[in-house]
Amino acid sequence: MALAAEPADSVWAMSADKTIEAEPMNPAERTVDHDRAERAVRELLEAIGEDPSRDGLLETPGRVARMWAEVLSGTNNDPDHHLSKTFDIEHDEMVLVRDIPFTSVCEHHMLPFNGTAHIAYLPGSTGRFTGLSKLARLVEGYSRRLQVQERLTSQVADAMQSMLEPVGVLVVIEAEHSCMSIRGVRKPGTKTVTTAARGIYRTDSSARAEVMAFIQGR
Ligand SMILES: [Zn+2]
Repeated sequence: MALAAEPADSVWAMSADKTIEAEPMNPAERTVDHDRAERAVRELLEAIGEDPSRDGLLETPGRVARMWAEVLSGTNNDPDHHLSKTFDIEHDEMVLVRDIPFTSVCEHHMLPFNGTAHIAYLPGSTGRFTGLSKLARLVEGYSRRLQVQERLTSQVADAMQSMLEPVGVLVVIEAEHSCMSIRGVRKPGTKTVTTAARGIYRTDSSARAEVMAFIQGR
């Protein structure tokens, strides 16, 4: 597993056992060529020695094509718009939204990775606030496409930084990758943790440590 590029970012492994909530369906399927996807699935079934005309597989290509359209429905969307509505409140201390569940798809194996995201930001005197549920929408938007966890983490942090202009942003994502649990090293339960720090959380290690303590203190 590759390390994230930025100095404040890190990856380590830990064990955890957590149930992920089901996410709402996203109907945006317009970018997928269904017929072509169906043909590709049929082709794949034949390539692995299966008979796509046998009873149990007759509807599989169509089902799999619809599944990919749903799972990757964020491919051509820009989730940053979820943060476009901001407001001022009398508060200049940290806001932390913890344990946002998500499902994404690893672009190296096209297998799912599931986990939780934690987003902290420090608005400061000039910073803007966003609705708490918008942070979950942001994570979902960037999850519904072929991804790597490191990039997902950075994209969420960069969106927060550019849309809200806070003093600092820290995003921590913990996920279990199917490509590590069902194939390859086959280590179920292994979690990959990535962080992306911006602003004060990148430059001030004690500020960062304080937020990490909140995220990990459960
Ligand atoms: Zn993978």
